[in-house]
Amino acid sequence: MRLGVSSTDPVVDARGVIKAYRDGEIRYPALRGIDLQVQAGEFVALMGPSGSGKTTLLQLIGGLDRPDAGQLRVAGYDLPRMDETALALFRRRHVGIIFQYFNLLQHLDAITNVMLPALLAGAGPGEARARALALLERLGVGHLAGKRPPQLSGGERQRVAIARALINEPQLLLADEPTGSVDPVAAGRILDLLAETNAAGQTILLVTHDPAIA
Ligand code: ADP
Ligand code: MG
Repeated sequence: MRLGVSSTDPVVDARGVIKAYRDGEIRYPALRGIDLQVQAGEFVALMGPSGSGKTTLLQLIGGLDRPDAGQLRVAGYDLPRMDETALALFRRRHVGIIFQYFNLLQHLDAITNVMLPALLAGAGPGEARARALALLERLGVGHLAGKRPPQLSGGERQRVAIARALINEPQLLLADEPTGSVDPVAAGRILDLLAETNAAGQTILLVTHDPAIA
């Protein structure tokens, strides 16, 4: 349900977002009042040095963790007010995340990795497989569908991770240093793919420590 959401609302609307990590009595601030708006169709690159809170922010926007304070609306959902079940549904249906270290399941082949979010969202196996294969082909790795992540190069794994993030046609694609662990040629191809995806209408928020990427 997306009641009250108008087409002009930003996809991401963060205001005064605060997050700290705790270790016993000690509190380590990670985000000290972040304001960020991302409009539908934008490709936004957010830059900051290592340790500045980029991954933390993406985890909050992706509904994987909660802010301590502040407002955070994503795809029209008021994330801080949602319970765990609602957040799990939100993650499955509305966001795709390309993680900094891929997070592919090592014992499953590429196509099954890509299919999983679709299966979890209720797609039938035949439909999920067809969608996964179409995406892998679009990303130039269709011929690797039957390989497991350890049999793939870094750039190939990253393409599989991109396909997995896109399979449920998310309103928002979050990319955490998506070129951080591949060689420069593979990095260029990944950025081209993201730009192409954005040109087709996909809203993207990418974080990086690299000024050249931003
Ligand atoms: P970035 O992605 O920009 O490198 P992070 O969001 O990973 O930054 O981290 C921001 C700060 O929060 C860092 O000081 C980091 O050490 C700390 N931090 C990140 N995750 C945790 C965690 N799970 N527990 C405790 N501290 C953390
Ligand atoms: Mg990070």
